[in-house]
Amino acid sequence: MRTPMLAGNWKMNKTIPEAVALAEALAKVEIPAGREAVVCPSFVCLVPVKKALGSSKIQLGCQNMHFEAKGAFTGETSAEMLKSAEVSHVIIGHSERRALFGETDAVVNRKVKAVLAAGLKVILCVGEVLAEREKGVQNDVVKTQLTGGLDGVPAADLARVIIAYEPVWAIGTGKTATPEDADAMHAFIRGTLAALANAQVAEATRILYGGSANDANIDSLMAKPNIDGALIGGAALKPESFTRMIQYKA
Ligand code: PEP
Repeated sequence: MRTPMLAGNWKMNKTIPEAVALAEALAKVEIPAGREAVVCPSFVCLVPVKKALGSSKIQLGCQNMHFEAKGAFTGETSAEMLKSAEVSHVIIGHSERRALFGETDAVVNRKVKAVLAAGLKVILCVGEVLAEREKGVQNDVVKTQLTGGLDGVPAADLARVIIAYEPVWAIGTGKTATPEDADAMHAFIRGTLAALANAQVAEATRILYGGSANDANIDSLMAKPNIDGALIGGAALKPESFTRMIQYKA
């Protein structure tokens, strides 16, 4: 049994007062039993958002982390700093980090290992760009990202890894992968995890879909057997749409 997860990636949106207002609205939301919800605000908003969430079951995540423990890495944030802000989940390898900040699979792998070594949970993002899908090489691309990102991660640690399949052509574009296409890729990812680790790990690992998921398409996405939740950008910025997504109809 995989616990469904709805995770909001707020990206570089919301000032502290705006983030607090959103968190306060979400804190009032009933999280259905057997589901997890996570919000990932910017670093500067982590502490005030945690406070605003109060006793809500919503967990706190962030969008990036450096792999080094401390020192002369201007502008970076370490695992211990995130732990001291009560972060539980770290998004690693988002396509925007890969495309805009030059993160390679090797860098992603160092970050994944550092998150796990700190006892935190990883949301590892993978996904192909449009040209790769048009060439029909999306499975190869995702397999390379998974194999590189998880290189050297022991099977036991994979219990704290959540995969987010985010076709880059669907992020922020309004173009969602069809539930069938997403489910097929999720099944492929599960097969890849079985080969990298074992069948038990593959069966237990949650695979989220990301890419223009919203309150109108969440029910049909969640109806698919290999889709275990969503990583949500734009639709996570409004309390009404994120709430509706947390409360998707099974
Ligand atoms: C994302 O960037 O993780 C994402 C899925 O964005 P959106 O939902 O806006 O496509």
